[in-house]
Amino acid sequence: MARRECPFCGKSVSDALTQCIFCRETLPELKKVAQQSGNDGGGAQVRRGLLAMLLAAVLGYFGGGYSALALPFPLDPILTTYLSPLLFLSGLGLCVHGYFLEHRSMHQKSMHSSNSSI
Ligand SMILES: [Zn+2]
Repeated sequence: MARRECPFCGKSVSDALTQCIFCRETLPELKKVAQQSGNDGGGAQVRRGLLAMLLAAVLGYFGGGYSALALPFPLDPILTTYLSPLLFLSGLGLCVHGYFLEHRSMHQKSMHSSNSSI
């Protein structure tokens, strides 16, 4: 059984609980999604990919001169024309890969549960 930290008292509680056994606070629901994604980090990779895409968008926005805000340092045009799309694509790839992992682990989990019920 996976364990997680209570956001209110910081104590380690069971992942299956919806209420902390120490401080009786209701634990946030979002962990239920993470529970489904399993332990192979599919959800984490999706988040990392989204972060990379966001970074690429920001880089492209500022570096491309679309912003009225001037950067304190000059950005190499090569950086914005090649690196930000590359970063965006790798982020997208990471996202797709993460989704793939998530789906696979869910599939495996349903197979496991059907096996054990027989
Ligand atoms: Zn608590």
